[in-house]
Amino acid sequence: MTSQPHILILGAGLTGHSAAVTARAAGFEGRLTLIGDEPRRPYDRTPLSKAVLQGRRDTSDLFFDTEASYRERGITLRTGERATCVDFEQRRVALDSGDTVHYDRLLIATGASPIRLRDPGFDLPGVHYMRQVPDAEAIRDDLAQASHVLVVGAGFIGSEVAASARTLGKDVTLVDLLSAPMVAAFGKSVAEICAEMHQRQGVDLRMNDRVVELRGTGRVEEAVLASGARVPCDLVVVGVGVTPNVEPFASSALEIDNGIVVDEFCESSIPGVFAAGDIANWWHPEVERRFRVEHFDNAGTQGAAAGMSLAGNPEPFAPVPYFWSDQYDTNIQFAGYPGTNYQTAIRGTLDDHEFTAFYVEDGKVRAAVTFNRPRELRPCRRLVAADVYVDIGVLCDPDTDLRKFVREAAAG
Ligand SMILES: Cc1cc2nc3c(=O)[nH]c(=O)nc-3n(C[C@H](O)[C@H](O)[C@H](O)COP(=O)(O)OP(=O)(O)OC[C@H]3O[C@@H](n4cnc5c(N)ncnc54)[C@H](O)[C@@H]3O)c2cc1C
Repeated sequence: MTSQPHILILGAGLTGHSAAVTARAAGFEGRLTLIGDEPRRPYDRTPLSKAVLQGRRDTSDLFFDTEASYRERGITLRTGERATCVDFEQRRVALDSGDTVHYDRLLIATGASPIRLRDPGFDLPGVHYMRQVPDAEAIRDDLAQASHVLVVGAGFIGSEVAASARTLGKDVTLVDLLSAPMVAAFGKSVAEICAEMHQRQGVDLRMNDRVVELRGTGRVEEAVLASGARVPCDLVVVGVGVTPNVEPFASSALEIDNGIVVDEFCESSIPGVFAAGDIANWWHPEVERRFRVEHFDNAGTQGAAAGMSLAGNPEPFAPVPYFWSDQYDTNIQFAGYPGTNYQTAIRGTLDDHEFTAFYVEDGKVRAAVTFNRPRELRPCRRLVAADVYVDIGVLCDPDTDLRKFVREAAAG
């Protein structure tokens, strides 16, 4: 084993886990170390804003694997240790424990952290962010006492937290600078359905507005909005996006631009140094564009792709990006490439919240979102990958068999 290179993975989230397990499964026999700063082994964050907040799932039940399984695979798992600095010339990583670890191949999988708001009052007790288990536990515990929840940011995490709080019967106000929830991801017409979904459930939506100040004595009690409105609140959750965790690498020769810049094999500007998951700004060889994707499927599959590269069997990573979200009783799934100049075509009716929306550019489907139509997502993803001209009228006709249509379209 000792003559083999040492693979070091920084960040023990889904990406790091997936890379480690894949490198081993691909036949890598050398030392493999996975280091993460959280005090627990890799776990699934996706239930935190949903089942965990709603009290339907315990945080002890989220791990991807057992400790014994890492041991059996020969993966040395070091939790509760933070990488503070990397010397890429000497191939050494300094940890906050004082230890230094040498590597031969390095994967950076340190993910992203919530953007913190610095406006007055955002440091008051009762103000939360959502990323890790302790965040979810603290919000869940506070929710038990809270009566009026203010959610700042109506993107993916904010919308899920608002839905969970409302499901628990709390008064909920959802504030966003933009015109509707999830509008950046879904565009105007579908985002308006998201707005209607929250309103139908009784959420007080304050779009095109922002919180300028939080006030309270000893704890948050009230929000002041830019419009001048005042909103009472005893619990605030901020979900205004994330920023990639690049600090330990920032002063190096490593190319960083909206995350760590990597090629289709997850390799960075420094040979032998890779990045994947939420932190990676990767080159899609087929679409010939860069993406940084902050979703579960990407973390798992790009982590696996990085694992193959680390093991010496690189394969190009070229998927159609995918994510899902669950809000109230609505399952939302999206596959495709983000864009701003798409036309939207609908299969089904928007009003009953059971439809598929296609994002079309020059006669080709670039992305699709399904609302409560999970079975339509897979053919949609295939259609995006096929990159073919289609008759949008036929595609949207409810009598069209979508699977058959896609099969034939993809076959040319
Ligand atoms: C509440 C929540 C709900 C979500 N729900 C969905 C969903 O429904 N659908 C979906 O598609 N996606 C969802 N996601 C997104 C998905 O969970 C992320 O895309 C995924 O976790 C990214 O994995 P990652 O391993 O790249 O990064 P992370 O999960 O962020 O893991 C990175 C790890 O590295 C650690 N780290 C950071 N810096 C250092 C350092 N210097 N040294 C050592 N360790 C470090 C971090 O603490 C963390 O443990 C959700 C995310 C959250 C937070």
